[in-house]
Amino acid sequence: MNRRATQGEPFPLPIDNRPLKLAPGMQGLLRCPVCHARLELSPTVAVCQRATCATRYPIIEGVPVLIHEANSIFTLADFTERRTTFFNLAPSWRSQLLDRISPSINRNVKSKANYRRLTELLLSDSPAPRVLVLGGSVLGVGMEALLERPAIALIESDISFGPRTALICDGHDIPLEDGSVDAVIAQAVLEHVVDPYRVVEEMHRVLRPGGLVYAETPFMQQMHGGRYDFVRFSYWGHRRLFRRFAEVDSGVVCGPGMALAWSYTYFLLSFVRARWARHAVRLFASLTSFFWKYFDGFLVDRPGALKAASGYFFLGRRSDTILSDHELVRGYKPELTEA
Ligand SMILES: [Zn+2]
Repeated sequence: MNRRATQGEPFPLPIDNRPLKLAPGMQGLLRCPVCHARLELSPTVAVCQRATCATRYPIIEGVPVLIHEANSIFTLADFTERRTTFFNLAPSWRSQLLDRISPSINRNVKSKANYRRLTELLLSDSPAPRVLVLGGSVLGVGMEALLERPAIALIESDISFGPRTALICDGHDIPLEDGSVDAVIAQAVLEHVVDPYRVVEEMHRVLRPGGLVYAETPFMQQMHGGRYDFVRFSYWGHRRLFRRFAEVDSGVVCGPGMALAWSYTYFLLSFVRARWARHAVRLFASLTSFFWKYFDGFLVDRPGALKAASGYFFLGRRSDTILSDHELVRGYKPELTEA
């Protein structure tokens, strides 16, 4: 159904009046993604309070859709009309069956320990930390550590509706006040944005001074996520992306075994075209390569694995100084630069 605007709205007004999913204490942090002014929130619409902007944003089933349309690949109508954005919310029965019976070729070796460390750092900094999650429509691998501590308030955002989405936003224009959160998380997100440098600038802006960032980003992974796959980072490239942050820790999060299983799967997939054949190949590949990920527990901290990783993590603090490119190539972790 494509209902057109009524009463001057640029989108059909949602009829659902349920309360916002975002915790009341977090709602005051929301800002207009276009001009950063405060928003007036009602159950169905958020209105920018700056007279010269006055942009109106829909709130759908308690989820504000705060997208800067001129800067984003998404539009407000993508959400009011429930188009598929990133996650297909109605996958075919074949895909669902395949997901259920295929052993996973993925293993995030470090995620759990890293989230535990992030949790401890957060709670030693502040008794009631606020954490923005980008790509938070579903719970990321290892994130349970944060949920187990009720003092930590999460702002779970995404560009898809999902079981945990409390805010629809685009990381290129984060609709939060400057310096308003204690941490930002981007797990398997930055490869899916058109301009990761801008997204990290936005993460820096919304973090308080010394606030924490945690990112996991792929290096050796084939195309995934349909049309929304834009970038990969080497270990050094990932460090440079976070040049305005002081490193707490970084390294391999998904290892060479997982990278090998992905390469093998996509090698086999390049032979076939029909959808049923791709399903069959995926099942065969996962059954014959799922165990390679278990080598990663042994390999993860070895320098050689750093060059062959499926993905990296970076844990850091917002800094006022910038890691220069000279420092990056000359001084950063020389023990890892042997050919
Ligand atoms: Zn505005």
